[in-house]
Amino acid sequence: MLHIFCPHCGELRSEEEFHPSGQAHIPRPLDPAACTDAEWGDYMFFRDNSRGQHHELWIHAAGCRQYFNATRNTMTYEILETYPIGTQPQFSETPASAIKNTQGDQV
Ligand SMILES: [Zn+2]
Repeated sequence: MLHIFCPHCGELRSEEEFHPSGQAHIPRPLDPAACTDAEWGDYMFFRDNSRGQHHELWIHAAGCRQYFNATRNTMTYEILETYPIGTQPQFSETPASAIKNTQGDQV
């Protein structure tokens, strides 16, 4: 079982109290009416599915019910950090060019 640090409550809590809500740091288009259908569809539905360090939006659903961001390694499930929305992460995402599959080929 994971224990996740909630930056709003200020304490480690059981993962059962939290829910992931998808990729973090996706800016809403400034003028949605000016978007093409493809641009709007990309904003609404398409997300990265990267391996390695990934920034995600989480909610402390059974606690303070506040959203926050987390940097999680999608291969090991390790949560490297949690931080309030509107602040910058300490860890950067793993660039796709740095990830290799089990045969050593870049993906
Ligand atoms: Zn909380």
